[in-house]
Amino acid sequence: MDFNAENSYLNTKGRIFDIQRYSIHDGHGIRTIVFLKGCVLRCRWCCNPESQEYAIQTMMVQGKPKTIGEDITVGEVMETVLKDRQYYRRSGGGGLTLSGGESLCQPEFARDLLHAAKSAGITTAMESMACARYEVIESVLPYLDQYLMDIKHMNPAKHKEFCGRSNELMLENARKVAASGMTELSIRVPVIPTFNDTPEEIKDIAQFADKLPGVKRIHLLPYHRLGQDKYDGLGRDYLMRGILPPTNEHMQMLKKLVTENTNLECIIGG
Ligand code: SF4
Repeated sequence: MDFNAENSYLNTKGRIFDIQRYSIHDGHGIRTIVFLKGCVLRCRWCCNPESQEYAIQTMMVQGKPKTIGEDITVGEVMETVLKDRQYYRRSGGGGLTLSGGESLCQPEFARDLLHAAKSAGITTAMESMACARYEVIESVLPYLDQYLMDIKHMNPAKHKEFCGRSNELMLENARKVAASGMTELSIRVPVIPTFNDTPEEIKDIAQFADKLPGVKRIHLLPYHRLGQDKYDGLGRDYLMRGILPPTNEHMQMLKKLVTENTNLECIIGG
């Protein structure tokens, strides 16, 4: 991309730990997912524990040390994102997705990445827990086509116990983002046995989502254990050891429950 005074946002620096191309999850069409480092929560089941610390870390991967985290400019990220431009268009609305971590932990970098993509005619999405001041969220909304917002539990105490923070700020932000009408808001719920997988807990979240203006869809994301080896690689305990992923029958039962109790389309998976 060419740099000039009008696109100085391309010089903004941030810290990422991965870029995944050709993803068919986390937004419409084919997507490039940029994973930003740093998260305010500490969910027990997190499948990207290397995302949580902002600091650059070393993780053992298949017996070899791997550096996790790289400082990079928006312009450099965009060089990779632009490589797949033709696929975004052909796949019907594909584009850039920001993930993490919590992208809003690096607000200027997240905003400028989204701005750069929109300026290049590429659609944007962001996975986020909305765990930030609303002014921070407001700064990214003009450049955000789709907000994939996690809501994990309606009970503040249980949210704090399993994720490290209470949920009031996130629920309040969900209401504000929905009321703004500035982006397509989709709600995503990681379904975690022992945390939120009972019919009552999922129904509570779904009924909250159903009341958010403009929200049409809710995704139920079944817990998986794919991140378990990373905890070993970081020298950390995996607190969900022994917890099994929900069965397909259980997920189907929850989907039916959501469909019967709300006006939302319910999708299993991302
Ligand atoms: S919010 Fe997401 S990235 Fe952050 S700790 Fe929880 S699961 Fe991990």
